[in-house]
Amino acid sequence: MPQATETILEIDLNALAHNYKYLRAKLQKNTKFLAVVKAFGYGSEASEIATELATLGVDYFAVAYAGEGETLRNSGIETPILVLHPLPVNFDVIVERCLEPSIYSRKMLTEFIDYTKKKNQNSYPIHLKFNTGLNRLGFTENDLEFIATTLAATTSVKVRSILSHLAASEDASKKDFTKKQLKRFDVISEKISAALNYKPLLHTTNTSGIINYPEAHYDMVRSGIGLYGFGNDSEENKNLHPVATLKTVISQIHSISEGESVGYNMGFIAEGSMKTATLPIGHADGITRAYGKGKGWVTIHGQKAPIVGNVCMDMIMVDVTHIDCEEGDEVIVFGKNPSAEALSSAINSISYELLTAVSQRVKRVICRK
Ligand SMILES: *Cc1c(COP(=O)(O)O)cnc(C)c1O
Repeated sequence: MPQATETILEIDLNALAHNYKYLRAKLQKNTKFLAVVKAFGYGSEASEIATELATLGVDYFAVAYAGEGETLRNSGIETPILVLHPLPVNFDVIVERCLEPSIYSRKMLTEFIDYTKKKNQNSYPIHLKFNTGLNRLGFTENDLEFIATTLAATTSVKVRSILSHLAASEDASKKDFTKKQLKRFDVISEKISAALNYKPLLHTTNTSGIINYPEAHYDMVRSGIGLYGFGNDSEENKNLHPVATLKTVISQIHSISEGESVGYNMGFIAEGSMKTATLPIGHADGITRAYGKGKGWVTIHGQKAPIVGNVCMDMIMVDVTHIDCEEGDEVIVFGKNPSAEALSSAINSISYELLTAVSQRVKRVICRK
């Protein structure tokens, strides 16, 4: 890979393939693998990621919103696509592009059945989402009778799967809570399966669930962050490879004298003579202002260069006083070192947020390392 000459997000498809194979090996042979590619593939490049994963044999994709599923279909993805958070306004695109809605409320169920009936659909695949403790989206046990009666009265839709989402699968101290969620899921899925005369797929685990709750893999698992290189656990992180590397370049180097300020609002005052490097990346690219004033840093020639003063929209200035570097040298914002996890935790955030924050202004470069 040549050195970066501008800000780019490198997407390593070999790292993706490695992570997929690593996670797949944790499953029973017959367990299906759903790859979560929402939010541009966790900030990377959803179409390239999905195309690679389809080649590797994933069984399902999931996106958050219908428009993301449409984008995948436009790039030629033919694998089933689950839409985790559909809204009634999306029904047209869902049915036109063969996307499969996760149905989470009585209103959605009724309206989607009405819609599919109007469109003369038969056995259109839907997924029933249950709230077992996250209290975000989903039916509860109280809806079971309504669901059973409603489904018995129609042939327009067919339940392809029953799912729930774990609230704290990464947290060992919340094991009791997670087990309670799983128990609730068992009760619910048994009742629904008994009411239908066929067996939908069951699934509950995200990446940390795959790692921490092998007993809860059921028929399918849903992995997002693990595919992109993070396991929510420092041991597992060693086995996974980061897919995305955010790189930039030194535009200019400044010599600053004691007492001089750097950046907007005089956000930094030099305590002695120093050297700063200005980089073509700012909060409009995803490096939020919270990283300013020394909280965040980049790596130049393997050395840590803290952000000096406030993050600008299109630039940051970093302290390179002790780094032997020149204008045009490559800079790593995150990747192997620092990892997105290490950098994001400096502002009490998580890898998910930093990865998905990289804005569409940053050029994506696909590679195989
Ligand atoms: C985003 C999401 C996932 C993926 O979670 P990771 O922790 O990234 O593996 C799985 N299931 C649902 C419902 C999600 O919203």
